[in-house]
This record gives sequence, C-alpha cells and structure tokens, in this order.
Amino acid sequence: MCDRVRVRILVVEDDPAIAAPMVSGLERHGFEVVHLAQGEGAPDAARAADVVLLDLGLPDLDGTEVCRRIRRQSQVPVIVVSARGDEMERVMLLEMGADDYVVKPFGLRELIARIRAVARRAGAEGVALERIEVGPLVVDLRTHAVTVDGDTVELTPKEFDLLAHLAADPGAAHTRRSILEEVWDANWYGSSKTLDVHVASIRRKLGHPEWIQAVRGVGFRFVVDDPADQRDPTAT
Ligand code: CA
Repeated sequence: MCDRVRVRILVVEDDPAIAAPMVSGLERHGFEVVHLAQGEGAPDAARAADVVLLDLGLPDLDGTEVCRRIRRQSQVPVIVVSARGDEMERVMLLEMGADDYVVKPFGLRELIARIRAVARRAGAEGVALERIEVGPLVVDLRTHAVTVDGDTVELTPKEFDLLAHLAADPGAAHTRRSILEEVWDANWYGSSKTLDVHVASIRRKLGHPEWIQAVRGVGFRFVVDDPADQRDPTAT
C-alpha cells in the first residue's frame, strides 16, 4: 500500500548502548536498517546501503580505515558518528570521503536531518527520502507540501511533522508517548491533549478522518484502506 521505497541504512557501531536505540529509532522512522558491530564486512555491506552511519572507534578496524575502504568501492554517503569532535579530525574525515560528521551525544532528530541532507545531495541514487506516498496522500518532506488526490492541504508545521511521522510507517501503532517524544520534544511534559487537538485538525483538513485511527490504550496509527480490499457494505 505504501509506495515509498524504504531507505537502507548501514549502522556500523560496536557499542550496544548507542546502536540499539539508534537502530530502533531509525526503524520507527521507516528506515530499513542493517547493523554491524565491527568494521570487517562494512565495505561490502555498504554497497547495498543508501546511507552509512560509521562509528570511528571500532574493535577491529579503525573507522577511518573503514571509511577509506568503503570509498574505494562506492560513493554511498557516509556519516561518521563519533565521540571525537575536534576540528582537525573533522577536516581529515571529510578529506577521506566522509560526507558528514555527528558528535556523540546527538539526538535522533538531528541524525535523521543529517541522513536526509546527505541522501538528498547523493540525489540520483533513487533515495526516496523526500516523499511519502500512501494511497492518494503525498507528503513531500523537502517542500513540506501535502496533497490528497493532487489537492493541496495546508497544515501547520507541527501538524505536518505529526502526519509525516504517522504516514512514514503505515499500519504501525504509535504510542502516545513515542509520538510526543518524536514529534514534539524528547522531554515533553505538557498535556497529551495537544496531540488529540492536532490529530483532530489533521483529520479535518485531510477530509479523511478514518486515515488516523485511534488505537485503544496505545495511541494512533495511519491507515489508508485500499478500495479493492474494502468489503461491500451492502453485503453485511
Ligand atoms: Ca565504538
């Protein structure tokens, strides 16, 4: 039902305390993630990836060497993820072919913004990060435009973020807590009524209130039913 091609991310990170939330966070945002805990094998795995997130301090090979080896066989965007943040190293990394650099600790939203930026620059590789298409709905992440059957829908920036979050993974149930954390702020202490108000507004503006379903005791999910799957109401 979702026409969006999943973007494949290779995460090369040996620290499970960093890798686990990174992998689950990226998967929640609709990315397909392959995780390696060492540098060996990363250059080969990188050939099937759209973006590589590369830790520098790996148990077997130094991350800088992994980066060089990846570059020998592919132009896949590489974002170095490291605790080492000095300017010299940054320049060196960019010279050896890394595309960007994030310093630990960093937030998931920052990381995703970087992934989108490098993937966008990589351009012609067919990276479909910029558009989410579900049935008649198109959410353009680059221009922040939303259309239903080609008609523009005007959303506020927060409504847009919320819709993009839900529509990126059609059918998935999102908890209220995870939505508030991802769309609002990692430390949201406000009333979760805000979420209901935004959902109600998006439903009204899309003209398809049934697309955002309340999941009792959990939160919400985005579902656009395929007309071919719908039962004939007169048959019941
Ligand atoms: Ca490490």
